[in-house]
Amino acid sequence: MTIIDRLDATRSAIARAAQDCDRDPAAVTLVCVTKTFPAEDVVPLLEAGHRVYGENRVQEAMGKWPSLRERFPDIELHLIGPLQSNKTREAVETFDVIQSVDREKIAKALAEEIARSGKHPRLFVQVNTGAEPQKAGILPQDADAFLAFCRESCGLTIEGLMCVPPVDEQASPHFALLADIAARNGLHQLSMGMSSDYELAIQLGATYVRVGSAIMGVRDYSTQNG
Ligand SMILES: *Cc1c(COP(=O)(O)O)cnc(C)c1O
Repeated sequence: MTIIDRLDATRSAIARAAQDCDRDPAAVTLVCVTKTFPAEDVVPLLEAGHRVYGENRVQEAMGKWPSLRERFPDIELHLIGPLQSNKTREAVETFDVIQSVDREKIAKALAEEIARSGKHPRLFVQVNTGAEPQKAGILPQDADAFLAFCRESCGLTIEGLMCVPPVDEQASPHFALLADIAARNGLHQLSMGMSSDYELAIQLGATYVRVGSAIMGVRDYSTQNG
C-alpha cells in the first residue's frame, strides 16, 4: 500500500463510521498527523488534495510548513501538542488552529498575541480526561471554569475540545466525558480519536480525528529534535 492508498482507506473508513451512526461524513474532518516526517513525505498527500494536517511541535512545524504553504496556500495546519507561553508568537504565526489551550498563562499569552498580530487562529481547549500527571490538558473538573476564563477574562473564542485518552485504558469513557463537557458548555467541535480508535471516536461525536501512523507509517522519533 502506498501512502495515498492509506489516505484513501482512512477516508473511506471515516465515511463508513459516520454513516453507520447516521452522521454526515462531511461533519468529520481528517487531520493527518505528520510529526517526525519530512516535508517531502507530505508532498504526495498535498498533491492528492489533502489539506488538513497536524503537528505536535512548534519548532518542527516552523521548519517544515512555510515552504509547503507557498506551494499549497490553502493548507490548514493544527497544533496538537503542548504550547509553551514563550512560543505563542511562533504558534500564532504558524498554525491555523491551536488545539492545546490548557492553562491561564497560555490563554492570556494567546489573547495578547492575537491582539498584537491581528491573526486569529481557531482555538480548542485540551482536556486531560484521564487526569494523568505527565499529560497536558486542563483537568475535567476545572474545564468549565477555564472555558469561562478564556471567554470572559481573555475575550477568546473557543470552538471545541480536544483529548488524548490514556494509552492503557478503554477510550470510550474519555470520549464520552469530552463530549459531555463540550455539550454543557455549548461547544460543537470535538477533536478525538487517533489511528487506533478514530471510528469509535466518530460514534461518540468526533468532528476532528487526528490520524498519524495509519496514513504515514511508523514514526522514528530520533528525527524529531526541535
Ligand atoms: C501523534 C499524535 C496523534 C496521531 O497518533 P497516531 O496514533 O499515529 O494516529 C494524534 N494526536 C496527538 C495529540 C498526537 O500527538
